[in-house]
Amino acid sequence: MHYKRLIPIVLLKDGLLVRSQLFKFHQAIGDPIPTIKRLSDWGVDEIILLNIGMTNNFDSRRDDKWHNIGQSNFNNLITKISRFCFAPLSVGGFIRTKNDLKELFNCGADKCIMNSSIFENQSLVKWAVKEYGAQSIVASLDIKAVKSTYKIFTNNGNKLVNLNLSEAIQYCLDIGVGEIIISSIDYDGSTEGYDPYILQNIPNDLEIPIIINSGARHTNHFVEALKKESIQAVAASNIFYFTELSYPIIKNKINKKVNLLRKSKLLSDLIEREPKYSDIDKKNLLSKGNKDKFFDKKKFHGHLKIKPKYCKRCLYPSLSASPMQFNNEGICMGCKIYERKSSINEGEFNNRKKILLEIAKKKKSSSNYDCIVSVSGGKDSYYQTHYVKNELNLNPLLVTYNGNNFTKEGWDNLIRMKDVFKCDHIIVSPSVDILKKLNKIAFIVMGDMNWHNHIGLYTAAPRVAIQYKIPLIFWGEHGYADLCGQFSDEDFPEMNYRERLEHAGRGFDWNFFVDIDKITSKDMFLWKYPSDKEILKLGLRQIYLGNYVKWESNNHLKMMIEKYNFKVSDKKFERTYRRGSNLDDIYENGIHDYMKYIKFGYGRCTDHASKDIRSGLISREKGIDLINSMDHIKSKDLYRWLDYVGMTEKEFDRIADHFRDPRVWTWNEKSGWERDIITADKEL
Ligand SMILES: [Zn+2]
Repeated sequence: MHYKRLIPIVLLKDGLLVRSQLFKFHQAIGDPIPTIKRLSDWGVDEIILLNIGMTNNFDSRRDDKWHNIGQSNFNNLITKISRFCFAPLSVGGFIRTKNDLKELFNCGADKCIMNSSIFENQSLVKWAVKEYGAQSIVASLDIKAVKSTYKIFTNNGNKLVNLNLSEAIQYCLDIGVGEIIISSIDYDGSTEGYDPYILQNIPNDLEIPIIINSGARHTNHFVEALKKESIQAVAASNIFYFTELSYPIIKNKINKKVNLLRKSKLLSDLIEREPKYSDIDKKNLLSKGNKDKFFDKKKFHGHLKIKPKYCKRCLYPSLSASPMQFNNEGICMGCKIYERKSSINEGEFNNRKKILLEIAKKKKSSSNYDCIVSVSGGKDSYYQTHYVKNELNLNPLLVTYNGNNFTKEGWDNLIRMKDVFKCDHIIVSPSVDILKKLNKIAFIVMGDMNWHNHIGLYTAAPRVAIQYKIPLIFWGEHGYADLCGQFSDEDFPEMNYRERLEHAGRGFDWNFFVDIDKITSKDMFLWKYPSDKEILKLGLRQIYLGNYVKWESNNHLKMMIEKYNFKVSDKKFERTYRRGSNLDDIYENGIHDYMKYIKFGYGRCTDHASKDIRSGLISREKGIDLINSMDHIKSKDLYRWLDYVGMTEKEFDRIADHFRDPRVWTWNEKSGWERDIITADKEL
């Protein structure tokens, strides 16, 4: 049988993975390497990787991430990808010369996709077809409605080619390409399905395969296109990033309706899902901890420094812990998404509540519990449990990861939850001995002592879910969607392995730590995420309530204090003015956050001030005063941590310096480390 194909498209801009809408609106949603590894794990039919940015060179430096690609270019990235990617890889973006093609094929591309060059450099395309074979050269046609007709555009939808669809297809056939991908600019990111004009206007008797792209979200969208004789493959981008095992799940659903795709097969059953860390790489990363490892401050003489860009509405900087995109007016995606979410009316939230109840009904298990709520004992945990219990009328099992970092108020709040909500509560507490080791190693390797907490938290609840056969977990809000506009709420992103590894773990999974400081695989038991097979079998879904409920942190806090006597900190934090956040972790508002300042030049006070400016609680001027008075403070919990792991302050500072971003920091022999700051009268 000749199978048709289901193809995920990975879009890259400035070295980052982006979600696209109408070819214009781009949200950075992650890094390409873990995403493509995940697609490969899922045994996809093919991957299309397109660079849609303004350049093939990028600096997406993140010295604290395993999958850091740093100052690099598109070709280097493809070389890295082809080392672990088992799916056929088709790549495109800036193919202008014979050399561009040669390099891409040499780096590991199986096919090259050409867009502007198809119309601007016909002889190059003909040469490529002759040199590499028609099957290796794909033409990409972007189509858009213009008045009452449809026209082809090139250069990311900016340049009109005066051809309609059938003329453009004939043109591609004449120059000999082996395949055509047709995307709709109007339907890009729409979730409304493929553009009906394209579906209806591809001739049936073409000798080469046609791939249709843009707008698909639901199974029926794919099914409708696959039923067309003229269409050999269906492609989509955004939807594959939002949920766990999205590809095999969608493929199975399609095949139940039209059995036209190769049966889905998880590669992760055969090949390790976790990244491979060689001994040399590990040694290199750990060398920052060597007392005599020299750190050359003089290298920070400002040659890589870039002018910091702050959102014109809030105070979010362009170089940030979460990749951030700004629109043409200089407004950050965090503000834009906040604006969008604020416009959602009561009726829409009622609809979303109905969707939640339907999901809960579908996921009803044989277990004692209707769902799991992952709780840390913070104000959001209280609100989540309150909502699940009292608004959704479900009986949840509470699950907590205890990283031994609770503040007194945080621990009291947590322990009271079983009484306050009359729920069963499982607290997963690793041994303090292993925690101390993980604190120290992770600080040296990635400048984050709380790796164990981030990964522990995102592992404990799914593990309990598998063990107790409870296929539904509720989380609070999607932190990066809320803060940095990563994803839109209507994407309904759910927690998944990629997000856990890439964002929470910075690309470091449990296996990285094995054999360091005598740590064994068994010691890492509590940080081992369930296998893809187990997740698929249980049908586990991990939902962020923040996508379904109006999420107003400050109001929730007030409500939780009044209703459940939730306790806030009686002392001020040093690095933020808020008192109700992160009581579950002594370092989150303290020295863990100070490392964010070392890495990027800003801290939690900027996060909190930006959120409070968006919601109108404080003015931008007030926010500037607050961040300039707090972001740089080296908080005193450092001394508790140094004592906990057995490290001196001098060692801490020396290791921390390794993570300074040369785009932010310069070294001045007289005054020390310097960075630009924003002041109310001097906008940067
Ligand atoms: Zn903003």
